[in-house]
Amino acid sequence: MEKVSLQDVQKQLKEHGLKATPQRLAIYHALVQRHDHPTAEQVYALIHKQNPGISLGTVYKTMDSLVDAGLASKVITSDGVLRFDGKTHTHGHLHCTKTGRIMDFEDEELEALLTDYFQRKKLPNFVIDHFQVHVTGQIPDSRPKS
Ligand SMILES: [Zn+2]
Repeated sequence: MEKVSLQDVQKQLKEHGLKATPQRLAIYHALVQRHDHPTAEQVYALIHKQNPGISLGTVYKTMDSLVDAGLASKVITSDGVLRFDGKTHTHGHLHCTKTGRIMDFEDEELEALLTDYFQRKKLPNFVIDHFQVHVTGQIPDSRPKS
């Protein structure tokens, strides 16, 4: 897994018009280090020890500002739990409904196929901004989440 430095995170924030406050730095850094689409609570738990001054409310607010600035996206799951993604380029998700794990699924062939499909097949009364493949299923032999 590639390490993302605090300097990189700081640069990203600035490039997206956000002031690199210590809270934003800590929260965004924690998010981009994880690839499992954490909830705001999980990000809070991750940073709490080193940043006892950051409340869960601040994590929620900061997540929203990161999403608004285009640095993160929301992943809505079928169980209604809101999770966050530090990756903003087009990619799909494989969602294991037994463990709750959401894994990134990147496949150029599928993206190209779908892009081509939507270009050819114009949807009536609908203009597409973005599409995302979300596949649900189960990881064989995994333990259910407790
Ligand atoms: Zn993702």
